[in-house]
Amino acid sequence: MTTPKLRYIDPHVHMVSRTTDDYAAMAAAGVVAVIEPAFWVGQPRTEVGTFKDYFASLVGFERFRASQFGIKHYCTIGLNSKEANNEALAEEVIELLPRFAGKEGVVAIGEIGYDEMTKAEEKFFRVQLELAKEMDLPVMIHTPHRNKKVGTSRSMDVCMEHGIPPARVVIDHNNEETCKEVLDRGFWCAFTIYPKTKMGNMRMVDLARKYGSERIIVDSSADWGISDPLAVPKTANLMLENGISAAAVDAMCYRNALLAYGQSGQISESDWLDAATIDPKREFEGNSLLRGGGPETGGPETAGQGSADVRIIK
Ligand SMILES: [Zn+2]
Repeated sequence: MTTPKLRYIDPHVHMVSRTTDDYAAMAAAGVVAVIEPAFWVGQPRTEVGTFKDYFASLVGFERFRASQFGIKHYCTIGLNSKEANNEALAEEVIELLPRFAGKEGVVAIGEIGYDEMTKAEEKFFRVQLELAKEMDLPVMIHTPHRNKKVGTSRSMDVCMEHGIPPARVVIDHNNEETCKEVLDRGFWCAFTIYPKTKMGNMRMVDLARKYGSERIIVDSSADWGISDPLAVPKTANLMLENGISAAAVDAMCYRNALLAYGQSGQISESDWLDAATIDPKREFEGNSLLRGGGPETGGPETAGQGSADVRIIK
């Protein structure tokens, strides 16, 4: 069976921890745009300056890097819940946020919410919901991996308390236990597809059968741990093979993310449909990236992800 060629958006992927091969493979698989949420980076940060440089790379270098593979890069800005627990540092990070949240390509405040549901997490979650209102940006919510059901309900309650319309909030990392409530309450319901644990691809097919495609979003959350930057196209193919309609797959793996984050006014389809081809001579602060071996020599599919021979130095 031939599958229709669809376009994909991966609306939750931490590209700073991925390689150029990943970008090339994503482009070859049909990913036209990615959204990179600001998050924890594995090693806890000890100085506000490292947050500043991280945010700067999300709106700067990473955006450029993606462009060199024909992918449009957007991001969300926020203080993650884990690092909210270092309160003195968190205060300084909060001061920094408005400066970055207003930059081009920032489509939401996020990912924010709860990790262990501590007092400090709650405080900075609320502060950032107010920031989202001030900046007129949607919100991306990270739900806790432990105590998920309670944490997810509570996250939605807090958004409502701050008067944020559910249609402007994406609740991420859902599962079978949380999905119904999120949809019933009118929030966007995103699912992270990890290769082995948590939400697997086939479970997503079953969820799509049960709940349809309205307000459902599929993402990879790929980062430095075991994860798959091709989770969105792979899940899309699996859904198509299992009889989910192309229109529903298009909604879950492309259009819904565009609708949700399009409310920022910072992402629209014309960004990639009308885009010029990759300019391999483009530089970022005087530095090039492709080193003469990138997409200009034959498209992203030869940039390194697939055939070994293109990586052999002759
Ligand atoms: Zn994430």
